Amino acid sequence: MTEPLDLSDIPSPLRLRLDGDALVHNWRTLNDMSGRAVAGAAVKANGYGLGAREVVARLSAAGCRNFFVAHWREAAEIADLVPPASISVLNGVLPEEVSAARRIGAKPVINSMDQLATWQASGGGRCDLMFDSGMNRLGIEDHRAGAVAAMSLDVDTVMSHLASADEDVPQNAHQLARFQAVASHFPNARKSLANSAGIALGTDYHFDLTRPGLSLYGGIQRKQLEERIRQVAYPEARVLQIRDLQPGDKVGYNATFTADRPMTVAITAIGYADGYTRALSNHGYFTVGESQAQVIGFVSMDLCILALEDGVRTTPVWVCPRFNLPLSAAASGRSQYELLTSLGYRYDRVWLSKAHKTSESLKSLTIR
Ligand SMILES: *Cc1c(COP(=O)(O)O)cnc(C)c1O
Repeated sequence: MTEPLDLSDIPSPLRLRLDGDALVHNWRTLNDMSGRAVAGAAVKANGYGLGAREVVARLSAAGCRNFFVAHWREAAEIADLVPPASISVLNGVLPEEVSAARRIGAKPVINSMDQLATWQASGGGRCDLMFDSGMNRLGIEDHRAGAVAAMSLDVDTVMSHLASADEDVPQNAHQLARFQAVASHFPNARKSLANSAGIALGTDYHFDLTRPGLSLYGGIQRKQLEERIRQVAYPEARVLQIRDLQPGDKVGYNATFTADRPMTVAITAIGYADGYTRALSNHGYFTVGESQAQVIGFVSMDLCILALEDGVRTTPVWVCPRFNLPLSAAASGRSQYELLTSLGYRYDRVWLSKAHKTSESLKSLTIR
């Protein structure tokens, strides 16, 4: 009998290089930009796809004391890394979740009168409150703020959420005014309104606690964040094969690309199952050593075909799809949030304190 293989013993043809210094830099930047408020961290959806445990460990060491997840399972996944009471569960608590919620010890963000009743019936205790201020997603109706404040609740933080903080629209000021009215009913609780883009809206939006997510991970939706926020995630895919094409040769599913000249192409192990969206078919770019290579043909589930620059006869073993979030979002028509959260589970997530090329990526493949 041989030892069972651990997943980490099996090399992956895909890796996500993660710059832990950039992550911490981004949190510190957002914390500074939050003025007198402190910045927490939204780490839902597995830390926006990068790995919640690694993110939480790094940000906690940097001084972050408030973490936001959406589900109770997500809270349980990080509850041994930070005090459970520092975790808020944004989707609140359903009747079937109460018993797990009590064992985990994180705070539900109560979003409705139903959730409030559920929480109180199960014994109550420390919670956060989310009020709607005009987004009409989750949240207690703001006209109930006075009545809720009159109940004897153990409220840590009173929140609302901005719908359009990434745009210059009157909705931001309208939501701010509605939230200020809600907040006035809760003099003893912390107040929190701003997500990443909301931090850049200025002091009025900061209150006591901000809740950045996207910009921790390199996303930029407002000018004020450009040049201050650093890229954190760098996908890399292994080159599996190199082949020569003759004029007239067709490429990929449904033959959406035909070579018009002799070409050299590289087949690489990343596909739409890895978040490399099919929208980048015949469209996306990879960095291949010192040069750029365009995707040709349809992106498939596990593979992508790259046209090497004319005359290029070798490629590195690893190639890098462009992953500058604002630019990649514009190129793909997907949001920066989707680009991060659809990366998927097949990557080897490699945290480097200083992002650098490994010696292995400097090795080259040469065409026979
Ligand atoms: C996801 C989320 C955040 C973080 O928003 P970003 O735009 O990623 O900074 C903050 N608050 C709530 C309620 C959220 O759902």
